[in-house]
Amino acid sequence: MIVDRTDKNHVDPFRPYAYFIEAERTHDGIVEDVATLFLTNRECPFQCIFCDLWKNTTDERVPVGAIPQQIDFALERLSSAPHIKLYNSGNFFDRQAIPPEDYGAIAARLKNFETVIVENHPKLCDDEVLRFRDLVDTQLEVAIGLETADDAILSRLNKGMTLDDFGRAARFCTDNGVRVRAFVLLQPPFGDIGHDAVRSALDSIRFAFDTGVSCCCVIPTRAGANAFAQPDLSGYFQPPSFAALEEVALAGIEMRRGRVFVDVWDAERFCDCDRCAGPRVERLRQMNLTQKITSPVVCSCGMSV
Ligand code: SF4
Ligand SMILES: [Zn+2]
Repeated sequence: MIVDRTDKNHVDPFRPYAYFIEAERTHDGIVEDVATLFLTNRECPFQCIFCDLWKNTTDERVPVGAIPQQIDFALERLSSAPHIKLYNSGNFFDRQAIPPEDYGAIAARLKNFETVIVENHPKLCDDEVLRFRDLVDTQLEVAIGLETADDAILSRLNKGMTLDDFGRAARFCTDNGVRVRAFVLLQPPFGDIGHDAVRSALDSIRFAFDTGVSCCCVIPTRAGANAFAQPDLSGYFQPPSFAALEEVALAGIEMRRGRVFVDVWDAERFCDCDRCAGPRVERLRQMNLTQKITSPVVCSCGMSV
């Protein structure tokens, strides 16, 4: 596959490209702050077709010592939080992304956090995860992109994994005291659309929980990623409706098998009505935090799900 990377953003290997505090409902059922850092590092080698995270990456491996500097830079500027996410536009245990020589220095900076969340690919869930778990000596959680519980679609998405790979990785982590959260795409390219997309996303959430995942994050697939601009692929993708996102949130939470979050970043764009978009996004935000279903939003365009 030829992928155009000419419009990468300029990034500094010694600075995270974003960092902020966000509130999240924790594994223990309370809402607490999470320091969320988007580390700058080398582009992920998997090149899944729906992913545009490469935009804020380097072409080369960052120098040893750069990642600890990035963490220091962010933590000096953020208020304290009990939990931390180190997301890196790829996979934390990719040796070309986060230099393993830095694990000790990174772990030293994480010792006061109750939970450390990193992202990783199933093929990279191996003994290095356990080595890092022992170094951080706190609750480690790995976020893995399941995307969809459909092997045929995973293959077409160039995901580089099968459902067996996901299941093996999730069980490896949970058997070793490492929690797992899963990312699930709502209405990915090549998948079902409309109500069938809701059903597929819920099947994916069920699959994730069956493998021991404790938290699912549903992401409405966004146009504008690298592949979708390609004419030969654009016909296989439609953005999901806001109502579909609401349906997945409600039914996912009602499963009561673990936390189900929906990604509300920029979610107004999926809502056709300017009047109720804000309140509907806020309702989902509150449901993320409470894991309780709240009253629908009533609007002159109708009513939310
Ligand atoms: S593995 Fe994750 S970061 Fe890498 S291309 Fe796929 S979705 Fe993007
Ligand atoms: Zn409306």
